[in-house]
Formats: sequence, structure tokens, C-alpha cells
Amino acid sequence: MKLAITILPGDGIGPEVVAEAMKTLDAVASKFGHETETTPYPFGSAGYDASGKGFPDETRDACTSAPAIFLGSVGDPRHDHLPPNERPELALLALRRLIDSFANLRPVISQFVSPTSPFKPETLEGVDLLIVRELTGGLYFGEPRGISGEGEDRQAVNTLTYHTKEIVRVARVAFEAAKGRRRHVTSVDKANVLETSKLWREVVTEVAKDYPDITLEHMLVDRAAMELVAKPSKIDVLLTSNLFGDILSDEASMLAGSLGMLPSASLGGAVGLYEPVHGSAPDIVGKGLANPIGAIASLAMMLRYTFELEDEARAVERAIESALAKGYITSDLALEGKGRSTEEVGDHIAKSVRNA
Ligand code: NAD
Repeated sequence: MKLAITILPGDGIGPEVVAEAMKTLDAVASKFGHETETTPYPFGSAGYDASGKGFPDETRDACTSAPAIFLGSVGDPRHDHLPPNERPELALLALRRLIDSFANLRPVISQFVSPTSPFKPETLEGVDLLIVRELTGGLYFGEPRGISGEGEDRQAVNTLTYHTKEIVRVARVAFEAAKGRRRHVTSVDKANVLETSKLWREVVTEVAKDYPDITLEHMLVDRAAMELVAKPSKIDVLLTSNLFGDILSDEASMLAGSLGMLPSASLGGAVGLYEPVHGSAPDIVGKGLANPIGAIASLAMMLRYTFELEDEARAVERAIESALAKGYITSDLALEGKGRSTEEVGDHIAKSVRNA
């Protein structure tokens, strides 16, 4: 099979973790007899440097010409001075909107108890949850938005809107996912205060009627933040809006050991977008400290969802499990001085796939 993928290494540690994922992709291709076509394009701050735009035209065209996009991360402190509407990070929102990838799947599995984990091992036992985050609506996209006025009258506005159809389609993704799991959906909102959440709750309740064998539970976001650290193994599929999903998934990443462990798939449109959950981590860039597992696990999701290559996806996931079991871990998961480099972990995973 020919695996055509648009590669957006992005900024900071993005290119470092993408390089490791590409090694694993090469290993999958040679092991299973596939051909790859992977072309990198500038995006985010790298796009801004190349052409004055976070989302250059050439990159935009490439993003709709292959069935999958693989992204590192965006954001560079050099551009923090730019006004909000020119920040290169906006390229990511524009990309998600362009390909209409409205459902963001973020699996959180506690498969490795790091000695640096703030959790007791018994809290992490059996943690296997899937966050389904709405990705192309809500507060990050609502209009009007902006900053206006002068002096004490200077004010900022963002708008939170959801349409019924946006809620229906992402809710269906969550209920469908629950079918192959523990058949429980926890829908997270703030229905005691926000009208958008009242509509969210109403619509999700309606969609649930089509899935009588799935249990639906509604939970306020503040309680969900607490439950995620108190009894995380009780959560199966967590369905939520764009803003709440963004925050809760960073919190949940600690259940997997580190933000660097979490993969994601953004689905719904004609093109699938795959990226680790973390940002560009300017504090560790260029030091060989970045954990590549979130990116490599995103590659497994791409093989599974876009190319429907389940055996290949499992081979990558098994190689990750083996790396963790054998202690091939970066410093975010290890006791001080015991971590391996980004490259060492990536090499080990790619080698395990080749030798499987
Ligand atoms: P971040 O995710 O970049 O980093 C948070 C912390 O986690 C840092 O201490 C970092 O070193 C650590 N970390 C992140 N990924 C890691 C990895 N793979 N291995 C080991 N440690 C890792 O978040 P931030 O510092 O709040 O933001 C930095 C920049 O990233 C900002 O410009 C922000 O806008 C951008 N950002 C981009 C995305 C994205 O591209 N999807 C997501 C979040 C933030």
C-alpha cells in the first residue's frame, strides 16, 4: 500500500519527535511491504519564518492533497510579541477548520508507572480512557472576538457558541467509540452556568437514545477535573467541548506519566490529522529530552484510522510497550540522570518494529 502523508514538523520539539515517528514509519513500511510518500512543509512559526504566514499557501494546498497529515507541534517564544490575530499558533486552528476534523480522540492509558508519577500505583491501576474533544467549534472559534478600546476602557471578548449539529456529530463519535470499549460515556459540561452547556447536555441526551446499550452519565467540568485524579479508572469515554477537552486532557496526561506520552487523532473530515497532544516545549528544545512516544503512538493511530492497517498499528503499540518495559524512557518519566535521549527511545521502538 502507498502511504501518502503530509508532514508538518512545526516548531520547538515538533521536528525532534516527528523525526523519531518517521523512523518507526520506515520500519513499518519495510516490515510490512508498504511504500511511503512523506513530504515536509513549514507550519506555525516555521511557516512564519519561511513566508511570513503561519499557514503558508503551499502548506495549505498540501494539507488537502493527501489522506493524512502528521504534525509535530507549533509555537515559538520568538513570536510571542505578535498580536493575537497574527500568532503562528492560529495556523493550527485554521488547519483544523480547513479539514473539518471535528472529533479529537485522545486515548490515555496508564501502561507504565513512572517513579516520578505524582499518583499512587493503585490509583493508576486499570486506567484506560478515551477523551473525545470537540475540535472545530466552541470558544476557540466563536465570533466576535478581539481586543478593543484604550486605557481603562480596553476590553477583550471571546464568544462561546455551539450549534446542535456540531454537538450531534461529535457525540456520535463518542458513542460509537464506546461500543468497542466499556460502554460508558461521561459527557462533561458546565450546564449549571452556561447556556451552551445546557444545549450540549440536551443534545447528548437525545443522541444517547440511539445507543440504548451505552450508559450515559453527565458530569460538571469541575467535578470531572477532580474525578480524573481521584478515580480515573472509572472513566471510559469522556466526551466534551473544545476548551474543556484541551484542559482536561493535559491533566489526564499525567495518568500516562507525562504530557509527552499522549497521542491524538483528529477525525471527521476527508483528511485525518495526527499529532501528539503536547506543545513545542521551548524549555527542552534541542536537548534530546523530548519524549517521542506521544508522536509515535499518533503514528499508530494514523495507521489504524486512515489506512486501516490494524496489524501495523498494533506492531507499533507493542514496540512502545516493549520500550517502556525495558526502561527505554526519556527524562520526563525517569529518576534524575536515568533518562535516555529522544533518539535512543525512537531507535529502540523502530528496531522493535523491524525485528517483530
Ligand atoms: P508544552 O506542552 O509545550 O509544555 C508543557 C511542559 O511539558 C513543559 O515543561 C515541557 O517541557 C513538557 N513537555 C511537553 N512535551 C514534552 C515531551 N514530548 N517530552 C517531555 N516533556 C514534554 O506547553 P507550553 O509550555 O504551555 O507551551 C509551549 C508552546 O507550545 C506555546 O507556544 C503554546 O502555544 C504551544 N502549544 C502548542 C500545542 C500544539 O501544537 N498542539 C499544544 C499546546 C501548546
